[in-house]
Amino acid sequence: MSIHRKSKFEVNLMKQAGNIVALVHCAMKDAVKEGVTTKELDELAYKIIKNNKADPTFLGYNGFPATICTSVNEQVVHGIPSNDVVLKNGDIISIDIGATYKGFVGDSAWTYPVGEISDEKKMLLKATEESLFAGLEYMKTNERLESVAGAIEDVAKKYNLGIVRQYGGHGVGRQMHEDPFVFNYRTNNKLILQHGMTIAIEPMLNLGCDDVIVLEDEWTVVTQDKKPSAHFEHTVHVTDEGAEILTKLL
Ligand code: MG
Ligand code: MG
Repeated sequence: MSIHRKSKFEVNLMKQAGNIVALVHCAMKDAVKEGVTTKELDELAYKIIKNNKADPTFLGYNGFPATICTSVNEQVVHGIPSNDVVLKNGDIISIDIGATYKGFVGDSAWTYPVGEISDEKKMLLKATEESLFAGLEYMKTNERLESVAGAIEDVAKKYNLGIVRQYGGHGVGRQMHEDPFVFNYRTNNKLILQHGMTIAIEPMLNLGCDDVIVLEDEWTVVTQDKKPSAHFEHTVHVTDEGAEILTKLL
């Protein structure tokens, strides 16, 4: 495993990339409505990223065909935007966004409600967001990465939610996926966090069981029991004082 700790200069470029990702999320929050297609969301995201002199990180990544990942209801991650997916009142949609600016990547996902959603779904969104921020509490010099994973796991357990096991967070920088991999549950990881590490933390929690499967399109990950799933992610910089969120507006 090789972890590249970023210089101040590099972190500043990552902040710019993160700012662009945050701009897209702001637009998504407003655009997510009953009747909108996920393809329309994708086109809007592409425009904003390009208008800000950045590139959509996901487009073409291992052959992924779109700018953003749009995962509706029981879809967990890697949903492909489509003209055929029209948002309905009561849906939830996880939107994952990556932008590369001057060679550096920002990566952030958020789950949005469409109109009025069920109390169960509201709880799922609240709990998954809470688990992200519980994990971020430990993104500090000399803390263990295991504490981040444990904090996420504890929130999931508190709400009796399933934890997606096959996917997780990751180092991020010049590459979207760098070391270390970050599980969203305890694995007895020995890694000690250090100033300058930049890592995406991204819990994916399910209303039902942990298990997920990949659909025939070879991208879309869905829960095996078809119950809804949520995904919240920020790219953060580890500092002596704590987590500095990079995927936010400057
Ligand atoms: Mg992401
Ligand atoms: Mg990520």
